[in-house]
Amino acid sequence: MDAVAARYPFLAVARTAVKEADVDLGAVVQAADSPILARAVERVEGAIRDGRVPDPVADHEVELLSYPMARVLVSLINESVLTDRYALAEARRAMDLLASDRETAGLRSTGTQSLDRENLLAELELTDQLVVEDDGYSMAVTAYLRLISALRDSSWRLVDRRLTTGWVRIDEDELDILLREAIRHRVRVDLPLEVPDEIANELTAQVDAIGNMLADVRLPTDIDIVSPAQFPPCIAALVEQARAGHSLGPVERFTLVAFLRAIGLATADLPSFLEVDSTSEERTLLYTASRVCGESSATAYPPPMCETLEMLGVCVDADDRCMDVGHPLLGYHRRITAAPDVTDWREEP
Ligand code: SF4
Repeated sequence: MDAVAARYPFLAVARTAVKEADVDLGAVVQAADSPILARAVERVEGAIRDGRVPDPVADHEVELLSYPMARVLVSLINESVLTDRYALAEARRAMDLLASDRETAGLRSTGTQSLDRENLLAELELTDQLVVEDDGYSMAVTAYLRLISALRDSSWRLVDRRLTTGWVRIDEDELDILLREAIRHRVRVDLPLEVPDEIANELTAQVDAIGNMLADVRLPTDIDIVSPAQFPPCIAALVEQARAGHSLGPVERFTLVAFLRAIGLATADLPSFLEVDSTSEERTLLYTASRVCGESSATAYPPPMCETLEMLGVCVDADDRCMDVGHPLLGYHRRITAAPDVTDWREEP
């Protein structure tokens, strides 16, 4: 079987290879020790745990067929947080493989074992949308706008770009990010799939296990550090508003209080942290904390998910680290884990 199809299973050649393999999906899901199913679970769990699909397995057929099977699992769970995360994980893995194929191709001829960027551009229907320049590339503005739709960093905004008669200038690294986005769209586009009941019924154990894993990573419950420098943009904006003396609306206040309580700030510390100097605002804040968050962690409500906050207009200034994060608590967890040095507000003099 073609290694390219196995390594890049979203390509047309891979779809053809899957059809030609003519594997009975029903038999795969019924086999308790199916390597295809095991690798499919690994793909999805890797996406949840690390945001990346683990390295390919050596057996090309298993690698190839595990991709449609992973899509079945993601479809059965059918939660946009997972679907988005999975699509991004597949795209990241493909870009990693592309980079390694590029290195290998620089050393020796790899024939049909590797994919080059020109072929990938053709597959993603981007060949005519990209022009090589002396110092980078130009991309057709329509393709550019389509590919940046999920990118949060303001540097992608068209107003900050060199734009010449419908072409946007990008550099090498940016092209890689846009290619990753094109792959992500390709992986995401048909999800969730319709899954026949007889297949779904055989996958209950795997779906439950993945669902539990998703629930575990969705909301970290052990954060106990209050580091404003690492707050996601939406929360940082709410803190700024509160500290500036602006009265927050109920949704904003709920989000802020629920977030601060979830990261370990005691209710009694809320007014001083938010520098509240109005008695009525302090009373409202404490009332919100006691009624909405509760004093026991078992009864505390988490802040809303990003999707909800976006709908409510509370998601502001989202940046690249917000991508695919799904929830401000996960965003905060990601930031404090990645930061080299984190200071807790409660320990400041
Ligand atoms: S994407 Fe989520 S974490 Fe980031 S600013 Fe928006 S709501 Fe906050």
